[in-house]
Amino acid sequence: MKTPVPDYLQHVLAQCHSNQLGALADYIPELAQADPNKLALALSTVDGTIYSTGDDEVEFTIQSMSKPFAYALAIHHLGLDAVLAKVGVEPSGEAFNQIALDKNNNLPKNPMINSGAITTHSLLPHEPEISRAENLRRFLSELAERELSFDDAVYASEVKTAFRNKSIGYMLRTVGVLNEDPDEIVNGYIQQCAIKVTVKDLAKMASVLANGGVQGSTGKRILSRAVVRQMLSVMMTCGMYDAAGDWLTTVGIPAKSGVAGGIFGALPGQVGIAVFSPKLDEHGNSVRGVEIFERLSRDMGLHVMEGTPSAQTIVQRRYILGTKQNVVVYELRGVLQFTESEMLLRILQDEPIANTCIVLDITNISLIHEVGARMLFEGVDRLIEDGHTVYVIDSEKLLEQKHSHQGHAVVIREELEVFLNKLVQQ
Ligand code: GLU
Repeated sequence: MKTPVPDYLQHVLAQCHSNQLGALADYIPELAQADPNKLALALSTVDGTIYSTGDDEVEFTIQSMSKPFAYALAIHHLGLDAVLAKVGVEPSGEAFNQIALDKNNNLPKNPMINSGAITTHSLLPHEPEISRAENLRRFLSELAERELSFDDAVYASEVKTAFRNKSIGYMLRTVGVLNEDPDEIVNGYIQQCAIKVTVKDLAKMASVLANGGVQGSTGKRILSRAVVRQMLSVMMTCGMYDAAGDWLTTVGIPAKSGVAGGIFGALPGQVGIAVFSPKLDEHGNSVRGVEIFERLSRDMGLHVMEGTPSAQTIVQRRYILGTKQNVVVYELRGVLQFTESEMLLRILQDEPIANTCIVLDITNISLIHEVGARMLFEGVDRLIEDGHTVYVIDSEKLLEQKHSHQGHAVVIREELEVFLNKLVQQ
């Protein structure tokens, strides 16, 4: 059997091929030279499997799609509070290159418009030998799992005509949001925008975000869950320029577009998607890119507000072990977030008060959210208070701590079978 996913993606691409609406960005002269017919689509699952079709090997400049990644790297480097002290998180409702600040605090409204992105660029890590743009290139290369490079022609072309961005830089310097030489920061920002990517690179980057910061193919945590959440939230409210409301209602995937014609989106827990088609609509978003995202969201139920219903089951099996009837084993399965933890604690509530030994096996839990771990240990402490002995079998080392909130050493890093054998022999 061959999976139908590639055929489906090809079909989507073919259907929007004939759409010739929109225009190339021409305020960066080099972008006006792009081939308007190029069209590509890539999708990456959270485990790192990539499906792609069309001009999926063609490189184009990342442009504004670099903004959320720069934001994440700045937060990773300086902490959220330091970044929030310089750039807000409110949608501006204005064009991306508006020469304006938030009237209340003189700060850029968000990191997705140019004033916020130029400020964010200034917050990137840098050393005398390694520029901010270079550090971002390295970070993006790690996410894309290949060495990315700069498009020097696009960079040179934009620097020559960057009058608006220079004005924004000088405005930021005037009000003290920037403390450095504004020319240097704006040039660095333009270089950050000139990193070359393919749709496959972008889909890979997006899948790390969809996977809560862990790279599926390597298992490596690249960003913390909190940084990813911040980044995706800002993408959701401000990522699609002044079409953010339209995008949220019709597509519903946190996303960011760029003037070279790329759009990437990341749906938490599900997929990373990227498209490329250079002609833009009046908001600066790729016309065919928007069409493809709308189609994928509709066909595959990818709207974030559809939510992921809880599996409505957490206890896979409950059984009593041995003849003494005093060891009760719960084999758990699924994810442990608030809903499932609540369900589990409600079930455990029915355990009669006694000195039974309760074994909770979490080996087959695929994800434990912080709240899940907290509630699990809260339940464990209450069971112990009721007179039970409790063990949590965590052979996959899903839990960071080995003790409950009250300090009981309940976590066992052993296979269930091995542990139960020892227990019955006692
Ligand atoms: N380098 C571009 C600019 O700052 C990026 C804009 C965009 O992609 O929206 O004007």
